[in-house]
Amino acid sequence: MDRKNVILEDRWHRKILNAYWIVMLMFLTAQAVFLLSGGVFPDTVGKDASSWTRLAGSNGCTMLILVATEVWLRYWPKHHKKAIVGCGFLLSYMFYFIIEPSADGAQMALLLPVLISIVYFDRKMLYGFGVFTILIYGFLYFLMERPWYHKPIQEFIQIESVFIVSLIIGRTILVRVKEFISYLKSVMKSEQQLLVEKTISDKLLKMDALTGLYNHKTFHEYLDALLEHSEKYHLPLQLAIIDIDGFKKVNDTYGHWVGDLVLKQVASTITLIMMPNDFASRYGGEEFAVIFADKTLAEAQSITEELRKGISIVEHSNMKGRPVTVSIGLCDYQPGDDKESLFRKADSALYQAKRTGKNKVVTASDSILSDSLEGKVASI
Ligand code: GH3
Ligand code: MG
Ligand code: MG
Repeated sequence: MDRKNVILEDRWHRKILNAYWIVMLMFLTAQAVFLLSGGVFPDTVGKDASSWTRLAGSNGCTMLILVATEVWLRYWPKHHKKAIVGCGFLLSYMFYFIIEPSADGAQMALLLPVLISIVYFDRKMLYGFGVFTILIYGFLYFLMERPWYHKPIQEFIQIESVFIVSLIIGRTILVRVKEFISYLKSVMKSEQQLLVEKTISDKLLKMDALTGLYNHKTFHEYLDALLEHSEKYHLPLQLAIIDIDGFKKVNDTYGHWVGDLVLKQVASTITLIMMPNDFASRYGGEEFAVIFADKTLAEAQSITEELRKGISIVEHSNMKGRPVTVSIGLCDYQPGDDKESLFRKADSALYQAKRTGKNKVVTASDSILSDSLEGKVASI
């Protein structure tokens, strides 16, 4: 049983014990009212002093059982259910034997253990106490009630019928509750299933299916949000565009499927080298874009350099062990930059990396920006 269940059950032990106390109080009040209004317990109380002592003794015993259970519940951490059930069982027989001689229907006190079994939803206990009560009352009737108090057989049949019906009703309640719980579980399960499916479909919408990196759309959403953030709080931000060198040749030489494997491999190297706060995406075709949000330009440069090296040393078994290289254009966010200017800077740097021999990282300087704005990037 998990902890939450233990706490819940403990709460129920407490509630049942409180109910016992209330029943005890009512029981004592009823006796007092009965005696004060001049009532006499036939064959027992009222005839002599010893009969009064017997009544006080029985009530004292009942009270003792309750106090003992109270102490058990408060100071003994284990077997609370057993204590409550045992206490209920003893109480029911104490009540029965104390009032039986004077009151009709005292036998109903014997139903208490059956009722407790229903509260605990314990089917085995219900059957056990149900059958026990039916049998024991048979003995009590023929050995005590009939010979001593001359109770008619009709009363025996009525009481036994009530016990049997109570057992059947108790069983029906438990079966119904079990059905309801399994229905609830199935509803919860299907809701959970829906949630899982929604999470998966959300993820699929955000991710690129081939590489497992974020897709183009998610990249733009993230960059928009980050740029706003950087502008507002003057936080650093760098954008790197990574393009595989001569990728068309890879496809042409080894086939498109090998090209796909290479894309996957490059993506997994990117994932391996990126820090948790970096955002890597497949920007399109054989281009990847990475955003660094909590780094200095120097740190971003060193990571992109590490990335370039990391990609260039992977030997691709489907390409006869040959590696592929990438060119990377990196730029730093400056106040006033928008998405367009940021991309222009990164693209210009990438263009320059391609133009000057590939397999390198080029960082856009502010001068590149101004040059690119004037359309002179190629000459830098
Ligand atoms: P450069 O060094 O200048 O970048 O040359 P490149 O060949 O890498 O660049 P180019 O733009 O000429 O070719 C890119 C190729 O990438 C063309 C296209 O067929 C291929 N490509 C784009 N998406 C995929 C893909 O999902 N899978 C595969 N296998 N190839 C792709
Ligand atoms: Mg390209
Ligand atoms: Mg390329």
